[in-house]
Amino acid sequence: MRPRALSALALGLVLLVTGCGEAGKSPEKAAAPPSASASPSPTPVTKPSPTHTTPAKPKLRPVPKKLPAGLHRASGSSGVALTFDDGPDPRYTPQILAQLRAARVKATFCVVGKQAKRYPELVARIVREGHQLCNHSWHHDVNLGRRSAAEIRSDLERTNEAIHAAAPTAPITWFRQPGGRWTAEEVVIAKQMGLRPLHWSVDPQDWDHPPAKTIIKRVKGATRHGSVVLMHDAGGDRAQTMAACRHLIPDIKRRYGIALPR
Ligand SMILES: [Zn+2]
Repeated sequence: MRPRALSALALGLVLLVTGCGEAGKSPEKAAAPPSASASPSPTPVTKPSPTHTTPAKPKLRPVPKKLPAGLHRASGSSGVALTFDDGPDPRYTPQILAQLRAARVKATFCVVGKQAKRYPELVARIVREGHQLCNHSWHHDVNLGRRSAAEIRSDLERTNEAIHAAAPTAPITWFRQPGGRWTAEEVVIAKQMGLRPLHWSVDPQDWDHPPAKTIIKRVKGATRHGSVVLMHDAGGDRAQTMAACRHLIPDIKRRYGIALPR
């Protein structure tokens, strides 16, 4: 492939995976390395005085150049699946819930564990109103898929526990990797835990705060029967997403129907 084609491909890939954006998020932190000096050893062993007491940070697995196999990127029916990420958020989640209720449609909420722990009543309300839950990692770790299997598993478990503390019997059907930066290893682990990997097919990049009319235009331009639409009900100022949804939810319902992904 020519360099130009390669860079176009790379750009396309970046656009494809930039959803669930990181705008306004704190910079990603690597997991704390296992500390060699956390506590004094109870059994003194004679060894040469260590010159390398701090182990190197665990190496992160590279993000694959293309999305791994097995991701759900379609709703599984002719209807369009609406997904709202990064919440719950006390400013915006209730607004979206009210809009969904008014339109009498159901959506999927990809919740962040820390947010679920902080706002359990919103998680319970999401479930009570018939919507579906998706695990979106504990603190929106865009590098989660690159970490060790044990770290991935414990992050997803911790998030599930926070969700279940709020809604004990709610099924957690899906997992969505923050930023869409999936790795094949992570897909396997999520599936082993009974979490189906949910990606998307329509990304208006609402996290980047475009005006509502741009969000509407992007969603309408890309949505087809069976699309999975990614939007955000948290993680920053979502006033434009709220405004866009007031138009989009009834419009998508009328054109395609709105369905939960399956
Ligand atoms: Zn996200």
